[in-house]
Amino acid sequence: MSSYGNEPSAHGRKVTIVGGGIIGVCSANYLVRNGFSVEVIDPALPGSQDQCSFGNAGGICPGSCIPNSMPGVLKNVPKWLMDPEGPLYVRLAYLPHALPWLIRFLAASRKPRVEEISAAMRSLHRMTFECYEPLMKEAGCEELLQKRGQLFVYESENGPAGSAYSLDLRRRHGVKVEILDADEIRQLEPALAPIFKSAVYLPEQGQCPNPGRLVAKLAENAARLGVRFTRGRVTGFDKGASGVTGVWLDGGERREVDQLVLSTGAWSADLARTLGDRIPFETERGYHVMVKTDTGLRVQTISADRKFVASPMEAGLRIAGNVEFSGLTMPPNMHRADALLKQARPMFNRPLEGEVSRWMGHRPGTPDSIPVIDRAKKASNVIYAFGHGHQGLIAGSVTGKIVAELAANRPTSIDLTPFRASRFQL
Ligand SMILES: Cc1cc2nc3c(=O)[nH]c(=O)nc-3n(C[C@H](O)[C@H](O)[C@H](O)COP(=O)(O)OP(=O)(O)OC[C@H]3O[C@@H](n4cnc5c(N)ncnc54)[C@H](O)[C@@H]3O)c2cc1C
Repeated sequence: MSSYGNEPSAHGRKVTIVGGGIIGVCSANYLVRNGFSVEVIDPALPGSQDQCSFGNAGGICPGSCIPNSMPGVLKNVPKWLMDPEGPLYVRLAYLPHALPWLIRFLAASRKPRVEEISAAMRSLHRMTFECYEPLMKEAGCEELLQKRGQLFVYESENGPAGSAYSLDLRRRHGVKVEILDADEIRQLEPALAPIFKSAVYLPEQGQCPNPGRLVAKLAENAARLGVRFTRGRVTGFDKGASGVTGVWLDGGERREVDQLVLSTGAWSADLARTLGDRIPFETERGYHVMVKTDTGLRVQTISADRKFVASPMEAGLRIAGNVEFSGLTMPPNMHRADALLKQARPMFNRPLEGEVSRWMGHRPGTPDSIPVIDRAKKASNVIYAFGHGHQGLIAGSVTGKIVAELAANRPTSIDLTPFRASRFQL
């Protein structure tokens, strides 16, 4: 436990949450359980496909501690960019906009910084199960957390050797790691075609077979406990000496504010800027394709060579991946989703046949792979909880707990120093 500085001298028991994705609804659940009166404002329905939280790969992994920007990342970038079906795409016209973020991303790949980020990730993620379980139990959806482990498969025999530093990081953070050969892969996952020669199995990881339903169920539970959900987009804030005093909605309505949580995912940077914090931020657009079929796959499986995730879901198989830099407003390029499906086909023993649906979502990305969980610099009644990037489902439950601790001005469950907004100041 660590205590948290910069507390407001006084704060109220009414909390307005702006943004009701996984971060917002987990915060709502923890706040209402701690006696706060809570309202969530969002134009989207919780769990609907407009939210990034709807279409992710479902990984709920306490052992997730590998930043996106690792030593040597720069040498892979040209290869990824040249491949039209590769995991990374930067729209040329968008490059000048994304460049400062990308430079910071590369700077985060220095080993000493990777060590710090990895430790911060582990500290945030390690309690994910214990923070979800009481909420899921209360919401009656415990089946949405499956503790089956996570499998990284390689098409070469010595694949894990190429990930030696990642494995070392995981082991040093106490994450259980097993190296499998081709026979052991087949025993664990008979659904996989015999193209994989080696694997890393992380037995303590978990998965959610329907992340959208999870958000909807947690929102439903929060509403049952008294949380008010309002459909609307926040367009601005009124500010006073002690922070934000009111929020404006797109319909022209105004809400008085006591305390405010900003959990607007990929849409957070502009709102934070109006509150006095400039945070380097990008939407890392990602895609999924769903095939209504049963491959027999049980464990979430990552193609380590091709950088996509295959997840067994309630409604079929989900193939998820890609990082695309082209901003918040460009229409999706569903060819990327199709490319994921094409790459996944040889992976299974059974043919991937069935109805197909495609989706694109906006990951809220900071350049150093960890979120901002902090109070706004110039508005001490505002709690930031955004920027969870590739790990927002994992971190949702823990972030919700921390948000309630901050709102109550109590010591927080983890040290929040690595997650401060001020870390980006030059
Ligand atoms: C392909 C893909 C695979 C992924 N796989 C995983 C995974 O396996 N595990 C994992 O942990 N994470 C994964 N992620 C990341 C994860 O989905 C995100 O980190 C997470 O969903 C972010 O949650 P959020 O609540 O911050 O954002 P969102 O779910 O996007 O919610 C933000 C909400 O804010 C609302 N909002 C925006 N602006 C305003 C405004 N002005 N006023 C009011 N409301 C507003 C939006 O309508 C939205 O509902 C994946 C993401 C993608 C794209």
